[in-house]
Order: sequence, then structure tokens, then C-alpha cells
Amino acid sequence: MKRTLILGGGSGGVVAANILKKLVGRTMRVTLVDRETNHYFASSYPRVIIGERQPNQIIKGLKSLENKRIEFRHCEVKELDLAGHRVITDKHDLEYDYLIISLGVEYNLDTVPGFRENAFNVYDFQDVVKVNQKLREFSAGKIVLFISSLPYKCPPGPYEIMLLIDQYFRQRGIRHKVKLTVVTPEKSPESLAGPKISQKLRKMLLDRGIELIAEAKILAVEKNALILDHDAKIPADLLLGIASHWTPQAIRNTDLVDKNGFINVDPFTLETKYKGVYAIGDAAAIKTPVMGVYAPKAGIFAHMQAKVVARNIASMAQGSKPESYYDGKGFCIINTGFGQGCYTSVHYYKKPPTFTFIRPTKAAYLLKVGFEKYWLNCWF
Ligand SMILES: Cc1cc2nc3c(=O)[nH]c(=O)nc-3n(C[C@H](O)[C@H](O)[C@H](O)COP(=O)(O)OP(=O)(O)OC[C@H]3O[C@@H](n4cnc5c(N)ncnc54)[C@H](O)[C@@H]3O)c2cc1C
Repeated sequence: MKRTLILGGGSGGVVAANILKKLVGRTMRVTLVDRETNHYFASSYPRVIIGERQPNQIIKGLKSLENKRIEFRHCEVKELDLAGHRVITDKHDLEYDYLIISLGVEYNLDTVPGFRENAFNVYDFQDVVKVNQKLREFSAGKIVLFISSLPYKCPPGPYEIMLLIDQYFRQRGIRHKVKLTVVTPEKSPESLAGPKISQKLRKMLLDRGIELIAEAKILAVEKNALILDHDAKIPADLLLGIASHWTPQAIRNTDLVDKNGFINVDPFTLETKYKGVYAIGDAAAIKTPVMGVYAPKAGIFAHMQAKVVARNIASMAQGSKPESYYDGKGFCIINTGFGQGCYTSVHYYKKPPTFTFIRPTKAAYLLKVGFEKYWLNCWF
């Protein structure tokens, strides 16, 4: 019996496992590996930050995949022996015929001295829970949210978080006592999406009284300040950051990666230079054809890529030609607060890429809430 090994039980891995198992039934052994016992739905972290979701509402046990006859192995991937079709973990070696790598990114706090001691990483689940507590205790002062470096996943994420923090303090009636600032190395918010969309986001932040400092180079975090180049010092009572991203060491140690440690893949099939080995999601080095920069990294793209790879593996295992191709399309809804959301979409393989951005609506917000429900119920 053929074996497919899926590394990572995040967005890409869970979708790939589900779709593949559904297509191949008992004819293939599908095994998913993760060092965590739980799947964390990161798209809802902003709502945990402001207390609209409890941490346990956005977590699912990966063991539940076994109800669908997807084997779950709780272990840490240490090394990929790609020539030997083997993955070495802290518990055992796992062999495969097909391998899907969806290990995402890890956070490297050390790129910004002082981050670890003086700031919270709003992309990390444990810190997200702590930030919620900090916000509840916060009654006046300055909150600064900074992006350590590019690329970072979910490009609208920091803006969504700040818009929700704005909502949170308005609802508590103390917004006038709280100053909110976002600091980014980007030229403009979501600069990949082009000047029109950037401008709309800028205006949205301005209308909500959120200061934006763009093109910033973050040098360090001190106890109550963010240090930028040109001797700029931004005082803050609460520092929230997005730590620099890099891929897990097991990936960086392979010959699959580009100079930044992301995995080179065929942009349409997601296959690496090793036959039958695929990489999807945040860890993949997919670039936009026109600008040649990394394509946005988000769950929706991991999801679409997982579909393509799962379908193609199922076809090959059944003796057919793989005929699914990834098209670089995706959508995202930014929760802008007060029950409204902005629907945005992108087709980044198009030359030039196309983007849509629809002003905040209730319908988009409801779609986002519906997607959360669908995600947590459908895949587990
Ligand atoms: C705050 C926030 C909000 C977001 N909002 C959205 C949104 O609204 N829409 C959207 O599309 N995207 C959103 N994203 C981005 C989205 O969560 C990621 O892009 C997506 O999860 C990437 O999927 P992945 O499968 O590549 O990696 P992940 O989902 O990160 O999964 C990687 C998995 O690999 C496991 N792993 C890593 N290393 C090892 C190892 N050595 N051994 C074993 N297991 C390992 C991890 O435990 C993890 O479970 C958001 C992200 C954040 C942080």
C-alpha cells in the first residue's frame, strides 16, 4: 500500500490530509505528523486578543483526524532524508512514497534585540492569550504594534489586530485615553496589493485614529520603547510585535531551500526538485511572476495548494495523470471591527496581478465568522 506522509497539522496539512483520504479511501495510508497535539486556528487570534473568543474555542485536537482514518503521529520532525524517502523524528523514522511538507514558519525573536524581554508576539498563541489579559488591565497609555521584518504571513493581520483593539477600547469607553500606533517596514500597509488598496487601508487607520509609521527599520525593543534607525525612539506602555519569520530547522537543513530558507517549488504543481515531494503553505518559496517577490503567505493559499497536491497524489496513486494546477488565487476578509469586514481578493499569478478590496460590510463580516465555523467543524 502506498504511503503519504504529511508534515504539519496546520492549515495546509489538515486540508491535504482530509482531501487526500477522502479521494483514496483505504487504498493509501495517510499519516499526518505534528509536534503539537492541537491545531490552532490563527485567523481567530485577533478575536482572542480582544476577548471575543476564548482560547479553547479556536483549538482542535489533531487526534480527532483518526476518526477519518488519517493516522496522527505526535512527534517533532528533526531531519528529512529525501534521497532515502524517510523522515526522522524525535520518536521514530517514517517512510513515505509521497511527502507533503506544510511545516509553516517559526518565529525568530532574536532578530530584534529585546523582543523576548519587552514585547509580546501577537502571532504566537501563548502570547495572544497574555495580550488579552494585558488589554483588560490597560486603562490609559500608548500601545505600539510593530512588524519586525518582511515577509510575514497574513499581510492584513497587524492592521486587523489594531482595528479590533480600537473597537475594544471604544466599547470600554476609554479610547480617548489610549494611543494606538502601527510601525511597519513596508512602504505602505499591504503594499503588495498596490497603491490603491494601501491608500484605502491608510485611510481606514486614520479614520479610526490609529497612527501609522511606514518604511521603518526596527533595531531593538527596550522596556518602554521601540528603537528605530535614525535614532528614532517610540515610547510605549505596551509593545506588541510580529516576530521575524523563518522556516523550521529541519527544512533549512535540506537542499530544497532558497537563500532565505523557503522551499523552492514548481509554482503550479508545488512539487520540489525531488519527485513526489511537495511543499505548500508558508514554507513554500512561491513568488509573484511580475514583481519577483514572495507571494503573500496566508491560510487560504495553503488551503488551495493543499487541494492541488492532494488531488494530484490521488490521481497518480490511481494510475491517472495529475491534472490539478495551483492558480495563485485567494481571498481574505479583514475584520474591521463593530461587526463589519472588508472582502479582499487576489490573483497573483496574473500579469499584472489583480486585487479587489470591498469597503467594510456586515455581509463580509458574517462570511468570516461563517468560515471560522466551517473550518473548525469541517476538517476535524
Ligand atoms: C494572527 C494571525 C491571523 C491570521 N489570519 C488569517 C486569515 O484571516 N486568513 C488567512 O488566510 N490566513 C491567516 N493567517 C495566516 C495563516 O494562519 C497561515 O498562513 C497558515 O496557517 C499557513 O499554513 P501552513 O500549513 O503553511 O502552516 P501552519 O498552519 O503554521 O502549520 C504548520 C504546522 O507545522 C507544525 N510544525 C512546525 N515545525 C514542526 C516540526 N519540526 N515537527 C513537527 N511539526 C512541526 C506546527 O506545529 C504547525 O501545526 C493568520 C495568521 C496569524 C498568525
